[in-house]
Amino acid sequence: MAGDEQGNDLLAGLDVFLAEHEAELIEFRRDLHRHPELAFKEHRTTRRVALRLAAAGLRPVILPKGTGMLVDIGSEQVPYTDRPVVALRADMDALPMTDDKDVPYRSTVPDACHACGHDVHTTVLLGAGLFLAEQAAAGQLPGRVRLVFQPAEEAGGGALDVLAAGGMASVGRIFALHCDPRLDAGQLGVRSGAITAACDRIQVRVSGPGGHTARPHLTADLVYALGKILTEVPAALSRRVDPRSSLSLVWGRVSAGTVANAIPDEGMAEGTVRCLDDEAWHSAPDLLKGLIDAVASSYGINVEVNYQRYVPPTVNDQASSAMISSAALDVLADVRRGRARHRRRGPGDGGHGDHRAVGRRRDRGPAAARRDRRVTTAAIP
Ligand SMILES: [Zn+2]
Repeated sequence: MAGDEQGNDLLAGLDVFLAEHEAELIEFRRDLHRHPELAFKEHRTTRRVALRLAAAGLRPVILPKGTGMLVDIGSEQVPYTDRPVVALRADMDALPMTDDKDVPYRSTVPDACHACGHDVHTTVLLGAGLFLAEQAAAGQLPGRVRLVFQPAEEAGGGALDVLAAGGMASVGRIFALHCDPRLDAGQLGVRSGAITAACDRIQVRVSGPGGHTARPHLTADLVYALGKILTEVPAALSRRVDPRSSLSLVWGRVSAGTVANAIPDEGMAEGTVRCLDDEAWHSAPDLLKGLIDAVASSYGINVEVNYQRYVPPTVNDQASSAMISSAALDVLADVRRGRARHRRRGPGDGGHGDHRAVGRRRDRGPAAARRDRRVTTAAIP
């Protein structure tokens, strides 16, 4: 079958599928919204998704900790078994906050709310899985697809569990989406390259002889030296690293001393290191330790640096971004091209995969979103 012909059949099939399943998917999403579960506690969510996929003839494999799952579609189809798998990924966990909305599907769980839209992501992936299962059963799926329902995105660590369970084995490309309140319903934003920053934590402990503030020359004047570390190290970064990597160090907590006229003998500072570039992210720990040591030694204080990796940057693959843009443009006819919004400086743990596209569909249902027929695509800046 020619590619265009196959694509047209797929879109026609999708319209039929959406007409049949829109109400079910909206209700499924609202049910998840009523019953949000925090990171690594997504047992009910996992069970509901697994049961629905199993009812469609699929075989979900739940991750070892009991939340999140992997589901392969089309793997039995010879001769496609040798092809790389295309993975579609959604996160499932909620945030530890109160749901203040006045809607029938507001959260029934105290201090838990799907405020980040992961109920939407889960439902979109479920819907995609149900549709692809139909296509596979009809012999219409030209390849293999893996659904990755990832637990614990908000707390971090869920993506590592997916990797440990072999979730990326044989995967050639992976796609994901995330709700974005800056985009209207029916719009899709795509960015090639870095999209969410890495975020690591750094803790600096300094020590040296203390004493009276009348005689700082007899001490290490530790508060002054710590102040130099706080200001000079972030400034030095801008001269040591390519500014396009956006490597930055921002302090969030500092403490030293207890009274106005005594120089303490120890102090500490903690902060976060963010970065949009993979290479710069890898070099960050050694670079920062070197800069901190250099400032500390010039003031004669002892310093101990504890650098903790948290999540890597999410860097979208150029070819995969072009593919998702092109597919969206095919489906959503009236195209409005625009530049992407600012890249996010907050982390997403999608960086543990490699590719991520972001987009948004509101609660009006997938068919309604398709009817809007608009898409915003974003080019690499
Ligand atoms: Zn999120």
